[in-house]
Amino acid sequence: MTSDVLVLNRQFYAIHVASWRRALTLLYLDHANVVDEEYRTYSFADWREMSRTLRQHPAGFVTTPSFRIAVPEVIALKIYDRLPVSEVKFTRRNIYEHYGYRCCYCGKELPTDMLNLDHVVPRSRGGATDWSNIVTSCIPCNLKKADRLPKEAGLKLLLPPTRPKWKGSASLVFRANFRVRQSWQKFIDNVYWNTELEEGR
Ligand SMILES: [Zn+2]
Repeated sequence: MTSDVLVLNRQFYAIHVASWRRALTLLYLDHANVVDEEYRTYSFADWREMSRTLRQHPAGFVTTPSFRIAVPEVIALKIYDRLPVSEVKFTRRNIYEHYGYRCCYCGKELPTDMLNLDHVVPRSRGGATDWSNIVTSCIPCNLKKADRLPKEAGLKLLLPPTRPKWKGSASLVFRANFRVRQSWQKFIDNVYWNTELEEGR
């Protein structure tokens, strides 16, 4: 059996692809729960019980002398995930996260579709696209600022651009080759948010 299992962190972000052995070990040790299509979670005992009622399962079953258990397709870690992520990737998700889904000019907390990424020093003046010059901004502040420096537009940065210090676990750490299972799709269709943005000037 070669089934891979999608691993989510505690916030349900896809962070990793693990072997089914590793996934079952994490489940058995109570370090992870199985996540089903309806976002329901199952402990090892619940999942083992649930497996008894299944005739078929897309990822198959593992049979031991005492029980048979379905191979989960998606699990979510319960513990702090110590994945080796060296630095926080420059992705939309991480930028929004870093600034707490707030407009860095007026401080308003907003849903993602009401926030933009803003070049503090406009691109037209050589402002870089990286952590040192990108902040999140609401649309009104963004319009007000336009192609100017904040002070030229009468705006003040409540949250100046900074490079995050936390070790991000929100970015996908994927091996080169694995098959994306259908059940993973809903967890990774936010690739838009997790794709590294091109840094530069
Ligand atoms: Zn604003």
